[in-house]
Amino acid sequence: MSDAELVLRSTRVITPEGTRAASVAVAGGKITAVQPYDAEVPSGARLEDLGDDVLLPGLVDTHVHVNDPGRTHWEGFWTATRAAAAGGITTLVDMPLNSLPPTTTVDHLRTKQDVAADKAHIDVGFWGGALPDNVKDLRPLHESGVFGFKAFLSPSGVDEFPHLNQDQLAQSLAEIASFGGLLIVHAEDPHHLDAAPQQGGPKYADFLASRPRDAEDTAIAQLIAQAKRLHARVHVLHLSSSDALPLIAEARRDGVRITVETCPHYLTLTAEEVPDGASEFKCCPPIRESANQDLLWQALADGTIDCVVTDHSPSTADLKTDDFATAWGGISGLQLSLAAVWTEARKRGHGLEDVVRWMSARTAELVGLDDRKGAIEAGRDADFAVLAPDETFTVDPAALQHRNRVTAYAGKTLYGVVKSTWLRGERIVADGEFTEPKGQLLSRTP
Ligand SMILES: [Zn+2]
Repeated sequence: MSDAELVLRSTRVITPEGTRAASVAVAGGKITAVQPYDAEVPSGARLEDLGDDVLLPGLVDTHVHVNDPGRTHWEGFWTATRAAAAGGITTLVDMPLNSLPPTTTVDHLRTKQDVAADKAHIDVGFWGGALPDNVKDLRPLHESGVFGFKAFLSPSGVDEFPHLNQDQLAQSLAEIASFGGLLIVHAEDPHHLDAAPQQGGPKYADFLASRPRDAEDTAIAQLIAQAKRLHARVHVLHLSSSDALPLIAEARRDGVRITVETCPHYLTLTAEEVPDGASEFKCCPPIRESANQDLLWQALADGTIDCVVTDHSPSTADLKTDDFATAWGGISGLQLSLAAVWTEARKRGHGLEDVVRWMSARTAELVGLDDRKGAIEAGRDADFAVLAPDETFTVDPAALQHRNRVTAYAGKTLYGVVKSTWLRGERIVADGEFTEPKGQLLSRTP
């Protein structure tokens, strides 16, 4: 630790080997050593004694809709990255849609990077988009550093981002496999959605019936078949239907390269509790019944589900009408994701180590950033969240940094107060006070 500039000391540091009392040495924005708790602090190094607050690796959220430029009144890089930082997230990967332009060509990627560059309070990377007509753009986007490609198999909710039919999926997936890329998929089958009763109106039960589990299950089965045939690497976004879990587990045993994420809202909110007309709870696929939620937790525990990401997808309040059919679908939860997941995880007997694995280590791995992010060990970026895991707070929308403060978590009491967040050895937020933006734009490691 002789060249350390900074030492963070805590009785509870979450490392890949478990939680222990340790002193973490930092120099040049990197972790240089994880030492015994009482290791001597070198002269010239600043000591940050965190007491019993937990030091965990900054979270890596690979599913965020920032919407900037174009729909910055929904969310933007300035507000999204501040909210993320306040919630202990130090890296986010931005989804290719809901901004204008969408991230579907190299030019569009450059536009988004230019907008993000001086607004990013945390590190920001980008997904590209796979559309019916941009197969030729996929390889250039890959070479320009996007982390992979998102496709929808049913309508996305915005006209400029059309979905792929099965032939188009095969075409895009073959192209992506040819350069060893990753396809991430919104998996709901449009035919099953069309066949479901489309009542509309304010009743949550009607909305739930309009997005049945078999729409997810069928789309996932089709995706598995295509991935197997093309030896392609695929990732299932925001899994909600627990009925798809056996298919996924079987595909894995079969050698299919498939990973799966779920989201805080599927893990912590249930269909039974959604009030009629409360479209702040609307997302696609939908929040399902509590019995379904129990199976998602079981799948996290047994490793069938790899990771947990927010799918933060806000809009302005006026689009959250009380008609579930036409209200904007998307849940705003960036700042609250760690506390929400931790609150439910601890109730179910999980430790913070599990939460860190799902929300930092595995997400960093998904996008190939696990040489830099996702763990407290020598050589990685000095990105941290400092958490008081036993302190609670009640969610007050007015206290959120999101551009729009409509949230399904309003009024909930959650465990886990983020005391400060650190990016490359610099404290970027503490007690609601932010520094100027210090985030960097990230590219896929070639
Ligand atoms: Zn999304």
